[in-house]
Amino acid sequence: MDKSITMKDHNTLFQEEKYVKQAENKKQFEAPCSNEEIEMMEAYLKTDDYKKVNFNREAATINPNKACQPLGAVLAALGFEGTLPYVHGSQGCVAYFRSHFARHFKEPVPAVSSSMTEDGAVFGGMRNLIEGLENCQALYNPKMIAISTTCMAEVIGDDLGAFIENAKKEEVIDSDFPLPYANTPSFVGSHNEGYDNMMRAILSHLSEKDNGLALKQPSDTINIIPGYDTYTGNFSEIKHILETMNVGYTILGDHSGNLDSPANGEYHYFYGGTKLIDVQESPSAKGTMILQKYSTRKTAKYIEDKWEHAVVSTYSPIGIKATDQFVSQISELTGVKVPQSLIDERGRVVDAFTDSQAYLHGKRVALSGDPDVLLGLISFCLEVGIEPVHIICTNGNKQFQEEAEELLKTSPYGAESTVYAGKDLWHLRSLLLTNPVDFAIGNTNMKYATKDANIPLVRIGFPIFDRHHMHRYPIIGYQGALNVLTMIVNTILQELDEQAPDYSYDAVR
Ligand code: SF4
Repeated sequence: MDKSITMKDHNTLFQEEKYVKQAENKKQFEAPCSNEEIEMMEAYLKTDDYKKVNFNREAATINPNKACQPLGAVLAALGFEGTLPYVHGSQGCVAYFRSHFARHFKEPVPAVSSSMTEDGAVFGGMRNLIEGLENCQALYNPKMIAISTTCMAEVIGDDLGAFIENAKKEEVIDSDFPLPYANTPSFVGSHNEGYDNMMRAILSHLSEKDNGLALKQPSDTINIIPGYDTYTGNFSEIKHILETMNVGYTILGDHSGNLDSPANGEYHYFYGGTKLIDVQESPSAKGTMILQKYSTRKTAKYIEDKWEHAVVSTYSPIGIKATDQFVSQISELTGVKVPQSLIDERGRVVDAFTDSQAYLHGKRVALSGDPDVLLGLISFCLEVGIEPVHIICTNGNKQFQEEAEELLKTSPYGAESTVYAGKDLWHLRSLLLTNPVDFAIGNTNMKYATKDANIPLVRIGFPIFDRHHMHRYPIIGYQGALNVLTMIVNTILQELDEQAPDYSYDAVR
C-alpha cells in the first residue's frame, strides 16, 4: 500500500477547512434554531415533565428497537443447505435486509427480490414472482428457495400459494422442487415473527414431503433450534457442549456457515447450513430443544402437534444458571450424564465470576433488545449482583413482561426493576436521563441514548454495526458466560480508570 495515502474517517475528514466552511454556508438556507433555543430544548428533554409527555406518546414510535418480519425470514432461510432466501416485494426492502446483515456479520448475504414496482402494486406481483423463480434457478442453482413477503405484497394481498402453483403449472420450476413460503407482513410483529414464520414453513415443508412423517425410524439424536441468533460463536458453543456430552444432534437452521465463511479466494453463494435430508429425518429424533422460545412460538407449536416428541423451550442460556438448566435439559432428554470435563469448565467460569464480583455487585444497568436475549441477560445480571433497573423490549409482549417480572422477583437485585414491553429507545433515553444507571447493555441502536446519558454501552444483541467481530464470540453456554462477564467487568474497570484521580489510578484492579 502507498504509505503517503492517509485514510480518513468522518471524525477527521469533516474537520477539514473546506467542509467546516461548507457547513457554515449551508446554515443560511436551513434557518436553524439559535444555540439558546437548542440548549433550552436539550435541558427540557432531560426533565421528568418531558418524560411524562414522552410516555404518554401514542401516535408515534421513535427508534423502535426491532427490525421487520422478512429480515427474520431471510435469516431463517440462510440456515439451510443451498437455500436462496427470496423476498417477494419491493427491491429496496431486500437491499435493507442484506445491508443490515452485512453490516453486522461483515459478510456478503445472498438474498434476492422479485423487484415489484408500480405495475406490480396495481396488477399484482404474480409475473414478478414467476419470472424471478426462473431467474433464480438459472443464475444460482439453489437446492431450495424460501419465499417471504414485504409489506407491499401483503397490502395488495398477493396469494403466494396460488402464484407458486401457477409457476409449477407453467413448468418454470419442477413440481417437486422445495419452495417453502411464509407470509411476513411487517406492519405486525418483528424480525422474530418473520424468523418463526419461515422456520415453521421450512420444517413443515421438508418434514411432510412425501407424507413421510409416519415412516421415520426413531433415532437417538436430538434437534436444536437456536432461534433468531445472530452470534455465529453461539453455534460453536452449542456444538461444543453437545459433542462434549457425546450427544448426536441436528441443528435446525444453522446459519453460522453462511455468515462466517472463510476468505480463501472463492465466493460461494451457499456455505454450510442444515442438510435438507436431515430436516426430513428430524421428526424421528428423541426431542427438540429450542433456545429462543419467543422467536419460535409457532415453530414450537407445529413440532409439538406434528412431530409428537418432547419439545423443550427456553430463553437464551446466558450465564451459569441458564446454562446449567440447558445442560440438565439435554441430560434429561437423552439420558446422558454430564461429563466431568463440562463440570470443570463450569467451575472455571465460577472462579472467574468470583474474581470479578466485587466490581459488579450493586451496579445499576439498563437493558434493551429481543425478548429471549433480554431474559438471558436479566438472569446473568441477577447471578452476579448487577441490578437491572430499566428493561425496554420493543418487540416484547405481555407474556414476556410477566416472565421477566417473575424472574426479577427471584432476586433482591431485581427489586428496583421496571420492565417496559412495547416501548422504544426514545423512552429509554428519558429513563436514562431522569433515573440514571451506571451502564447499559444492548445493541448499537442504543449508542445515542447512552451517549446523551454519558454512560458506557456494553454491546450485546443485534444489530452491532459499530464494533467488529462481536458475533464471533459466544454469549451462551459456559464460554459465553465468561465472555459476557469479561465484556461487562472490563467496561466497568475502564470507567473506573477514566474517572480515577491520580492517587487512585491503580495498576491492579
Ligand atoms: S417494513 Fe415493510 S416496507 Fe419497510 S423494509 Fe420492512 S418489508 Fe419493506
